[in-house]
Amino acid sequence: MEEPEYIQLVKETEIFKNCKNIVVGKGNLNADILFVGEAPGRKEDEQGLPFVGAAGKNLDKLLANIGLTLEDVYVANILKCRPPENRNPEPEEIRKHTPWLIEQIKEIKPQVICSLGNYSTKFFLSNGEVDKMKLIPGITQLHGKPKMLDFHGLKIKLVPLFHPAAIIYNRNLLELWEKDMEIVKEEIKQKDLI
Ligand code: URA
Repeated sequence: MEEPEYIQLVKETEIFKNCKNIVVGKGNLNADILFVGEAPGRKEDEQGLPFVGAAGKNLDKLLANIGLTLEDVYVANILKCRPPENRNPEPEEIRKHTPWLIEQIKEIKPQVICSLGNYSTKFFLSNGEVDKMKLIPGITQLHGKPKMLDFHGLKIKLVPLFHPAAIIYNRNLLELWEKDMEIVKEEIKQKDLI
């Protein structure tokens, strides 16, 4: 059987040729809450799983703080392969890697997407139109401001959050993150998501 086009597209990019593993995602495919980060780092590339390095440890802690586990959420990234030296994703890479993410979203049908950091937030707020991402303000302006999206026919509440890597050494951001997560908690309570 021929490989789906969204996988072929990922394999066309240089970062696929240079990575050890494609990092698809982890967690519960039946979850109502999806967290989307930026791209795998070194540890993620080695293990083939998202958020298993320092940022991942922080994300685990942040989720545990509000009583969430990988049973309650799914975690994925904008890029499926590690960019060399963890450089920023390039528009062409985002264009070729996100059709796979969109497939995942159509399968999971989350009610809430928490976008972690700039790239993920800009991707969703530009409705997946990569050329428009540069017009979207940064996460410092957008965090904690939820927005209803009509994303590929799905009604999804987007909650932009700081990236867990940014929070590791910054207590101020931690406080803001926890405040922003109140929105997610409220959503969970209202819709009985977990
Ligand atoms: N940072 C991300 O954005 N994603 C990962 O999987 C790991 C670190």
